[in-house]
Amino acid sequence: MAVQPHFLLLTYPAQGHINPALQFAKGLTRIGVLVTLVTSLSAGRRMSKTLFPDGVSFVTFSDGYDDGFKPEDDRDHFTSELKRRGSQTLNELIVDSAKEGKPVTCLVYTMLLQWAAEVARAQHLPAALLWIQPATVFDIYYYYFNGYGDIFNNCKDTSYAIELPGLPPFASRDLPSFVLPSNTYTFAIQMFQEQLEQLSQETNPKVLVNSFDALELGAMSATEKFNLIGIGPLIPSAFLDGKDPLDKSFGGDIFQGSEDYTEWLDSKTKSSVVYVSFGSFLVLSKQQIEEIARGLVDSGLPFLWVIRDEQKKNEEKEEEEDHPSACREAILERQGMIVPWCCQVEVLSHPSIGCFVTHCGWNSTLESLVSEVPVVAFPHWTDQGTNAKLIADVWKTGVRVAANEEGIVKGDEIKRCLDLVMAHGKMGEDIRKNAKKWKDLARDAVKEGGSSDKNLKAFVQEVGQGCF
Ligand code: UDP
Repeated sequence: MAVQPHFLLLTYPAQGHINPALQFAKGLTRIGVLVTLVTSLSAGRRMSKTLFPDGVSFVTFSDGYDDGFKPEDDRDHFTSELKRRGSQTLNELIVDSAKEGKPVTCLVYTMLLQWAAEVARAQHLPAALLWIQPATVFDIYYYYFNGYGDIFNNCKDTSYAIELPGLPPFASRDLPSFVLPSNTYTFAIQMFQEQLEQLSQETNPKVLVNSFDALELGAMSATEKFNLIGIGPLIPSAFLDGKDPLDKSFGGDIFQGSEDYTEWLDSKTKSSVVYVSFGSFLVLSKQQIEEIARGLVDSGLPFLWVIRDEQKKNEEKEEEEDHPSACREAILERQGMIVPWCCQVEVLSHPSIGCFVTHCGWNSTLESLVSEVPVVAFPHWTDQGTNAKLIADVWKTGVRVAANEEGIVKGDEIKRCLDLVMAHGKMGEDIRKNAKKWKDLARDAVKEGGSSDKNLKAFVQEVGQGCF
């Protein structure tokens, strides 16, 4: 008798992993798959408000860092404990599920958890990586470790000298920061190397990408070795296809909620507000925050700006000099609203939002795309430079800021970009037209019979053979 397919879905305990993983879990349940979502206790504790749909069980395990990993902690110890305790939990879940008559069919894991593939192999289970960055970035890592490393090391920031099969030409600022000679995060590049080595051990490696075929057509099949499977964008249904208007739960909200900004947004005219956020992780220098404030004030536009508590604490640590003048603070308060966290997908879908100043995290990038919100791309590190390149030069849904020699984006530059995107000049109009085009294509991809819908069903059919 056929049994219901049951997927274990392991997610790294970070907002940018949990959000797409939860949406992926929902997509699986809609096609009849049971899902056990697994993450660490630290993330689980902060997900008390998350709504899990029927068919999704939630399991947490202690990785030994129950208050969350902090920058001062020993990263090697954290990584090895996460692996040791996580592997143990997965093994136990696989055994227990079989005893309960719900045998695990497949193990899916997000990036940075490459050891999960070893668990799957030892248990003779199919495994898949849920890649939560663009396909383009996966390909760049692949090329970096397969013959192109020297070219990356020698490229110039300003010239588009890097040509990789199936991808647009890149300057060094467009590459993930971890492949550049200036990279100091050796652990990160090692992890990507391990990830690719793990996948190479599989006869038929499966990489599910939070993207869709039309968005990254060349990148999905750029390398000979990996045929990437576009199953995105992974966004709550209410903000994407409307299949389930009540599905607004965008992820484990591992940060505290905020005071209500909805009324304030409601009071603004259509497409008039600048939304500013740098994601869940990045902390900017105080000087950079000051320049952003200056750019916003000089633009004269109303804005909603997320400044997380962690960012505020960092500023308190920095010297008192250069403190925003009382005058500027007063103007800032009159002109906009600063909040410690918000429900970003909800904010982006609000009609008053006219533009998104973003660090170009991949989730933020996709969220702006499906909400038809033009972008001022303000990348910093990891995949963000590549995402900014795609936004500004490939999809043309925004403009990218230029930093000065010290790496600071000055207020004038921010104002210049805001003017370009928000004004009704030719560039602004073209950007808005492109934003509409990509929103429609994203929605088409997840519709019944759309590319992502078909890819997901084909994947489940393949790994769950005998289950249906
Ligand atoms: N986010 C949010 N509220 C905020 C800021 C961010 O809900 O005030 C969410 C955002 O919607 C996105 C995630 O946090 O889903 C950030 O992921 P992303 O990949 O953009 O950046 P990261 O935080 O990983 O750098």
